[in-house]
Amino acid sequence: MVLFPGSTSVVNDSSDVNQLHAMARAAQEVLEAKTIQVLADEGYYSSAGLKGCEDDGIEAYVPTSDGNRRLEKEGRFGLRSFSYDAAADAYACPAGERLHAMEGRRTSANGRIEVRYAGGKKTCGTCRLKARCLSAKAIRRVISRWEHEDVLERHRERMEGAGELMRRRSGIVEHPFGTLKCRAGYRHFLVRGFDKVRGEWSLMALCDNLTRVLNIIGFADFIDRVAKLLATLQQALAAILRLFQIAPRSLWSNEQLFAILSISTR
Ligand code: SF4
Repeated sequence: MVLFPGSTSVVNDSSDVNQLHAMARAAQEVLEAKTIQVLADEGYYSSAGLKGCEDDGIEAYVPTSDGNRRLEKEGRFGLRSFSYDAAADAYACPAGERLHAMEGRRTSANGRIEVRYAGGKKTCGTCRLKARCLSAKAIRRVISRWEHEDVLERHRERMEGAGELMRRRSGIVEHPFGTLKCRAGYRHFLVRGFDKVRGEWSLMALCDNLTRVLNIIGFADFIDRVAKLLATLQQALAAILRLFQIAPRSLWSNEQLFAILSISTR
């Protein structure tokens, strides 16, 4: 479930992991912007999603998922402890040694094409840090690099200085969900069926957006703006009706009518 200004969406997928790029693109289209910044929570982290965003000029900020920090939680060196040297096409490890590219490429379980980089058996076997680096059965450290890993490296770099940005995201984006749950008591959908659920959610999002507008600009200002909009529409409608009254019926064609309607409603 995704809510952002101007558009909302409900997806038939229990996970957010595949939604980043599609939702970011939808936001980009609504905003008619060539480049945008997109912030999402950890559930949206996906390397393919980040790549898609970068290709479309979308600067994405998504915290790395917990799964990617599994080794660090076990007290072992994660990928962040290794730095890639593009010129040498090798990784430098925490002990200052190098992991070199192995021959061939392999396709991972999730379809990513990867190159594997390995430390020397002798070097790793005698390393003072091997307890924090190798698994119980490994004789050397091997790490996999996605063919588009540079996208993830740029993202990791961006995330280093994105603390304040992510705090702002939480303050802005989590607010509607909290409001809907606590104030409206909205904890589950009342209807069944994908299309109906989408409609229900759109109404809830519309109400929340309307409440925000009223809170920000005030009720009196809101009514004033609606009155001005209605007056403009009334003038446009009156202009169309006048044209109908003064023009001889024989002069009208569908193209002329369409042109006038387009001009009047702009
Ligand atoms: S075990 Fe190998 S890869 Fe790990 S720190 Fe030691 S030398 Fe580097």
